[in-house]
Amino acid sequence: MDFRPTEEQKMIQQMARDFAAKELKPRAPEIDTTAKYPLPVLKAMADLGMMGMNIPAEYGGSQAGVVSYSLAMTEIAKACASTAVTMSVTNMMAEVLHTFGSEEICSAHIPKICGGEYSCGAFALTESTAGSDPASMKSTAKREGDHYVLNGSKTFITSAEYAGVFVLWAKTDKDAGAKGISAFVVGKGHPGFIVGRHEEKMGQRGSPVNEILMENCCLPRSNLLSQEGDGFKIAMMALDGGRIGIGSMAVGIGLAAIEYATAYAQNRIQFGQPISSFQAIQWMIADSFTELEAARLLVLRAAFLKEKGERFTREASMGKLFASEIANRVCYKALQMLGGYGYMKDYPLERYSRDCRVTTIYEGTSEIQRLVIAREILGSNYVS
Ligand SMILES: Cc1cc2nc3c(=O)[nH]c(=O)nc-3n(C[C@H](O)[C@H](O)[C@H](O)COP(=O)(O)OP(=O)(O)OC[C@H]3O[C@@H](n4cnc5c(N)ncnc54)[C@H](O)[C@@H]3O)c2cc1C
Repeated sequence: MDFRPTEEQKMIQQMARDFAAKELKPRAPEIDTTAKYPLPVLKAMADLGMMGMNIPAEYGGSQAGVVSYSLAMTEIAKACASTAVTMSVTNMMAEVLHTFGSEEICSAHIPKICGGEYSCGAFALTESTAGSDPASMKSTAKREGDHYVLNGSKTFITSAEYAGVFVLWAKTDKDAGAKGISAFVVGKGHPGFIVGRHEEKMGQRGSPVNEILMENCCLPRSNLLSQEGDGFKIAMMALDGGRIGIGSMAVGIGLAAIEYATAYAQNRIQFGQPISSFQAIQWMIADSFTELEAARLLVLRAAFLKEKGERFTREASMGKLFASEIANRVCYKALQMLGGYGYMKDYPLERYSRDCRVTTIYEGTSEIQRLVIAREILGSNYVS
């Protein structure tokens, strides 16, 4: 067992760290305040290979691997969580197309995702009455000759405003439950595919989230991913990989918070000495760094297994659950270390806390991760 990253992984981590320090960290407060994202930044990230990190070079990907992706994601999230979630969904999207799309779909869309021509991709699964339980979705795709006609709506779709391409789920058989769901690819601006209401969010405000409406949206049969009825399986497999991205992001936000608070504690004088000399503060620092390191290792293990082509569902859920809950706890403590200043907008701790909150909610809530982990353990001869 070797816990050290390879030279190539270190190089990619450093590249992401340098980019984040130069291009993201200085912009993050304004992105949060204005809730407007500077799209050329996404193009620059694509040029550095960060929008298709697990995609082969033949489709324009950087084929850096899942461990490098996790390391890079943590660096991006340390500087700007809005950018990190955009990168996470885009990489997930590219992989869905690569794994389940026909050659025609792959060559039409993946190079434009990896190269930044599409800015980013979007993943449209959730509906207003189908969140944790996507099998209960109501959107339909009715086959008519060589086409499908889609009707329904989607809720909370990240990057819908900016994305050039979407993966979209709908029921091709209303009576078949999860087995009646199919997945489709659809390009921005397709007739009948409408990006609707923009949601006002608590955090990650540079990452827009919108409703999507499908009104007699007519898609050629060739836009179907894999086979009819494979949609639920595709979504679950994509979310397994997506959870590595969200876990890595949570670690990054937590690290940003505790590193800031630790530096602050060394300079803030109360009772004639830096507050870092008080044991209560030292324990917050020690616990936070320890827990984040544990979270990082758990997420990296899932990334390692995925990279090796082994099963990683349980590990990805464990990593996402632990990293997101720990990062929220770390943000709480880090804000506490700044006292009243932590609560003020002049300091980044309140932003980190808001940005971190959603990591226990999207791509499966913490409760759903626990269901997945328990199911994986109870359904197999689990050996620790
Ligand atoms: C900022 C943001 C961005 C998002 N981006 C996307 C996106 O790009 N694409 C997309 O498809 N979706 C997206 N989502 C949707 C997200 O995945 C869902 O919000 C999430 O899966 C939870 O669904 P819900 O909000 O409907 O909550 P519900 O499913 O209604 O859950 C409410 C509560 O009940 C709990 N609960 C539900 N079922 C169970 C159970 N069986 N056992 C125990 N507890 C349970 C949940 O854990 C939660 O605490 C996004 C959400 C947010 C907030």
